[in-house]
Amino acid sequence: MSHLRLLSTDFDGTLIEHFSDGRCTADFAEVLRQHKKHGGVWAVNTGRGLVHAIEGVEKFQAPVQPDFLLTNEREIFHRSSDGRWVPETGWNQTCYQRHDELFENSKAIFDWLRSHVDLRPGISLAEENGQICGVITSTEAEMTEFVDSLEKESAMAPDFSYQRNTIYLRFAHRDYHKGSALGELCRVLGIRHDEVLAAGDHFNDLPMLDGRFAAYPCCPSNAIPEVRETVLAAGGHVASKPAANGVAESWHFFHTDHVS
Ligand SMILES: [Mg+2]
Repeated sequence: MSHLRLLSTDFDGTLIEHFSDGRCTADFAEVLRQHKKHGGVWAVNTGRGLVHAIEGVEKFQAPVQPDFLLTNEREIFHRSSDGRWVPETGWNQTCYQRHDELFENSKAIFDWLRSHVDLRPGISLAEENGQICGVITSTEAEMTEFVDSLEKESAMAPDFSYQRNTIYLRFAHRDYHKGSALGELCRVLGIRHDEVLAAGDHFNDLPMLDGRFAAYPCCPSNAIPEVRETVLAAGGHVASKPAANGVAESWHFFHTDHVS
């Protein structure tokens, strides 16, 4: 059996390139076949919500389905034997409850946010169930500027954090991110961190690529510089190919590295 028991892959930018047809590549399809043949588990660890994650996975048309979807950078769903996506109730309920409490205690930050956004036509608020949950900017440069302001404004609220992905930003409790969701999945499955490959391309992937939750972090060639630096600092692999072909290249690198 391979030493890699769990693949935790981001989706957008990592398995599919922006402006691609959204389909799985032949190289990555072969990796999935080999991984599953040896009893491995595949989790798509994404910033998408559940509905959009399911849409993306269906369009991807991989030869095998993911076993888990980790959505919104923090929720966990597993695929039942009849193909339904079932929430990991305990983790998700605690996650929702802690975010409700956090946002209830963050009224001053949200007041600042509304007035900040009112003055900037390029920034808009995202809402879920009547609660502000994030912001969308018109450019990545504008997002960098916004993050600087947000960090100053939230400096006195240590639990208030965010996950940033291109022009999208989601507010989050500091304990919830792709890394902690992956850590919980490993705890539930009894998988050690030195049996995990994690692949990502953007800021919101950093918490699963710094070596704490996956001993084999990697990124495709199109990853942002911050991701490449984090992966290298954790002893991981930066692929020479983009997106899914890059993840396949890293899987072979770690696989060969171990068995040789
Ligand atoms: Mg991505």
